[in-house]
Amino acid sequence: MSLTRYQHFIEGKWAEPAEGQYFQSENPATGQAWYETARASAADVDAAICSAHYAFTSGPWRNTTPTERGQMLHRVADVIAKHAEELAEIEALDNGKLLREMKAQMRSLPDYFRFYAGVADKVRGDVIQGAARNALNYTLREPLGVVVAITAWNSPLYLAAMKLAPALAMGNTVVLKPSEYTSAATLKLASFFTEAGFPSGVVNAVSGFGSEVGDILVDDERVAKVAFTGSTPVGRRIASRASGRLAKISLELGGKSPNIVFPDADLENVVTGVVAGVFAAAGQMCTSGSRLFVHSSVHDEVVNKIVERARAIKIGNPLESETELGPLVNENQLRHVTRCIAQGVEEGAVIAFGGKRPAGFDTGHYIEPTVLIGVNNSMSVARTEIFGPVLSVIPFESEKDLIAQANDTEFGLAAGIWTSNLARAHRIAAALDAGIVWVNTYRSESALSPFGGFKQSGLGKENGTEALLEYSRVKSVWVNYDEGELADPFSFPG
Ligand code: NAD
Repeated sequence: MSLTRYQHFIEGKWAEPAEGQYFQSENPATGQAWYETARASAADVDAAICSAHYAFTSGPWRNTTPTERGQMLHRVADVIAKHAEELAEIEALDNGKLLREMKAQMRSLPDYFRFYAGVADKVRGDVIQGAARNALNYTLREPLGVVVAITAWNSPLYLAAMKLAPALAMGNTVVLKPSEYTSAATLKLASFFTEAGFPSGVVNAVSGFGSEVGDILVDDERVAKVAFTGSTPVGRRIASRASGRLAKISLELGGKSPNIVFPDADLENVVTGVVAGVFAAAGQMCTSGSRLFVHSSVHDEVVNKIVERARAIKIGNPLESETELGPLVNENQLRHVTRCIAQGVEEGAVIAFGGKRPAGFDTGHYIEPTVLIGVNNSMSVARTEIFGPVLSVIPFESEKDLIAQANDTEFGLAAGIWTSNLARAHRIAAALDAGIVWVNTYRSESALSPFGGFKQSGLGKENGTEALLEYSRVKSVWVNYDEGELADPFSFPG
């Protein structure tokens, strides 16, 4: 039986790959291929960048007002809302995440476009009063040009929306490059912009392998900015190449986030929050709360409760409504997670629950929810991003010791704090080196609120009005209104 084929989306229409090559995408729950997608070559990348560049420099897009861009963003939000169920199913089949998780993501996806639709015409420059005598000095906030957006597989459309919506609100044009594991939904999304009335070439998408076309996308002189979500090693490579030609970048990278439990916390809520932070999405979240710091006075009680909850987790097909834990995205990821657990055990960690392929799951990339105890913060399981359902539990004694350990990581994406002591919550939130801190909750996100990590977790912010700054540049304009003679040309004008 022949598989459905997806093409690139370039210049407002579907485009066959220049070299005629396709590759297959598999369903992680079965290991079976379920569609084919265009495999980008240098010629496809060139066509997509050319289309975006023309749309930015010469097409009607450049003359749209912010109000018109806002209206278009509202229209694309409507189109996405209309296709939300279909998109959720494609994503669940592609990355193995629960259909109910992807449905919830797709229901909120239009909000990202509506938020930036609303702020598009609120962007203002400034008048700098008193910058010079008899001159008006003002600033213009301008678009950058062509933005290349490269995304990971774990939430393809979410990650794309977080880049597209602010980039388009500011008047940029975009070339999307989704992960080779999850191309279909992003290609479809690109086509919705044409349906919503965006001029052709404003949003383009090419599918392909980062190892084959990543450098070509990043190195192209016509690309003003690369917005990337993915692993820290690839992020570093993009940073060094793009910075080499002084292109702008924003990077959303890996994490090893601490989730911290004080003895005065509501322990039932703690268990729910810990499960949400590390077993939801089979742990394939950049913000995963994979290091659980528990005060030693409640360590055993918390571990017992988490193990009890982990044992009850329903593993199964992501499309079924009662499933709580689906497969990992691919065989490589399963091998990586299994290797991380084995290395942890070699270094002295003890498996309190899980650690192996669940019984009855001979196909698909499944692994049990896993709880490791006896971990200390210098073991590899506490330092490496595992990106799977693996929790490392680390006891702590004092607040000072906790803060030192929680911050002792190369990453700085997120953190959770569980306590009923308000003063402590604020004190620890201020002391943590993390871009997002949740108190008595985990995983809340919104288009309205800035998102992004510190240290090796990234550069720049997505979401909120902060993201508009990432997709714009400031020009300072000086207008002399003195009708007299200009001053001595050899003296600094001041
Ligand atoms: P990855 O780095 O392997 O791939 C991400 C994207 O980069 C893919 O589209 C890939 O094709 C592309 N790519 C690969 N090599 C490239 C190159 N040389 N040049 C340009 N692009 C290249 O990451 P992944 O396995 O897809 O995703 C998992 C990682 O993403 C984890 O580390 C996770 O923490 C991170 N992530 C971060 C966030 C965040 O917001 N901070 C969100 C989701 C995922």
